[in-house]
Amino acid sequence: MRRALLSVYDKTGVAAFAEELRRLDFELVASGGTATLLAGEGIPVTPVEELTGFAEMLGHRVVTLHPALHGAVLARRDLPEDMADLARHGIAPIDLVCVNLYPFERTVARLDVSWDEAIEQIDVGGPALLRAAAKNHAHVIPVCRRDDYEPVLAELRAGGDVAAGTRRRLAARAFAVTAAYDSAVTAWLAGDERFPETIVPAFDRALELAYGENPHQRAAYYAERGARTHLLARVEQAHGRPLSYNNLNDLSAARLLARELESPACVIVKHANPCGVGVAQTIEEAYEKALAADPVSAYGGVVVLTHPVSAALGERLAEQFVEVLFAPGYDAVAMEALVQKPATRILNDRERRGFDPTERDLKRVLGGLLVQDRDGEPDPLHEMEIAVGSVSPEQWDDLLFAWTVVRHVTSNAIVIARGGMTLGIGAGQMSRVDAVRIAVEKAREHGHDLTGAVLASDGFFPFADGPALALRAGVTAVIQPGGSRRDAEVEAAVEEAGAAMVLTGRRHFRH
Ligand code: 5GP
Repeated sequence: MRRALLSVYDKTGVAAFAEELRRLDFELVASGGTATLLAGEGIPVTPVEELTGFAEMLGHRVVTLHPALHGAVLARRDLPEDMADLARHGIAPIDLVCVNLYPFERTVARLDVSWDEAIEQIDVGGPALLRAAAKNHAHVIPVCRRDDYEPVLAELRAGGDVAAGTRRRLAARAFAVTAAYDSAVTAWLAGDERFPETIVPAFDRALELAYGENPHQRAAYYAERGARTHLLARVEQAHGRPLSYNNLNDLSAARLLARELESPACVIVKHANPCGVGVAQTIEEAYEKALAADPVSAYGGVVVLTHPVSAALGERLAEQFVEVLFAPGYDAVAMEALVQKPATRILNDRERRGFDPTERDLKRVLGGLLVQDRDGEPDPLHEMEIAVGSVSPEQWDDLLFAWTVVRHVTSNAIVIARGGMTLGIGAGQMSRVDAVRIAVEKAREHGHDLTGAVLASDGFFPFADGPALALRAGVTAVIQPGGSRRDAEVEAAVEEAGAAMVLTGRRHFRH
């Protein structure tokens, strides 16, 4: 007769699982609480202390940590020495181990959790048992998820055993569970220390993707364990093709910018950069501004809206080719118009929690990760200084708007804006003067008169040539970090044009 050892914190479904194992001729052994539950259901079970000769001790710290159990799990059935060892100690092998762990993550997520309580929630025996079963999966079936109860039973029923491939997958899952568990303990112990010696991030696959940035690359979206919210949390896809890797990358860029704008706002992103951004009194108007900013680039873009889509806006959006549409709700008439386009992925945002501003920024580089704080907070106004001229209230609004947008544009980044709308964006240039030229040219190309517009630059101007180009085009106020050796030259050029300049003292590269 085979034996199964059960020790579960989350006891949902375990009685049914155990009962079925009994029917499949397994003898059942279980730890204290699990055994009590099974016995209560009338399922014959042997408590672990009958095998170990030890009642659980130290307030449940030591329950299954005993050679009578670990020997029974770890013995290689095809190794005579191992079997002789078991025989010498009167131990019979265990063939299936079902464990789920103390809910450490859930416990430390509570605001009122005490230190001692959290420490007690670090499961020791459970992971040890699970790791032992997973290590010896050639002979033992490790089960650590409720979702696996039924498939394991199905295989046992069908063939009397669980296939080698399944055992290996179950073992991988068990180690993934204990690794993520240790990662959560690590993160909690490291606490406010933002850059601990090592980072043990745990990510769970949240969405399988058809391919990566290009069709020959495999890809998936993984959500970070313990993150306050993530890209697709409480986001429901109402229509359209499955989301792609590039969709998610662009959606992330657009959402990060949209959350920083005064609302109603609309952000249109292409290739991870905003191509049009609008803020207005109404969401309809915000969309019109974002679209008009650069209608050519907006084609096939990711559109993020901060307000629900009205019937009128839905009809307007349906006139345009939108790859991904993201908004907190849709009017029924709007939806009707939008679903006419089979390709448009319509996402309904029900998330009300903000992103975690302390979240770290991770970037893959050769053989490792670059880790930094997120550049996620708006700059304090009191650190900004008017270096040249005077700034009207309208100009301030425009300058702060452009300054917010430019932080989300790939460096070297230039944003020209006016009246809550971007007019020209120069992104990802290797020289700043080229970024200005592109921003100006794009603005003109789309028929925007730049008279009275403002310009934001994510880094300082090393020379006066960049600002000179924009000033000649009609820009009357500039916002930039300052700090160049030639700041005086730049200031002189701005002054000569009768324009104003704000220095923020802080730059915002984004690469
Ligand atoms: P039960 O409710 O059956 O008494 O306990 C089940 C829980 O105890 C499971 O979550 C399992 O991971 C955990 N567990 C099993 N053995 C040990 C042990 O020796 N020490 C500790 N701290 N936890 C254990």
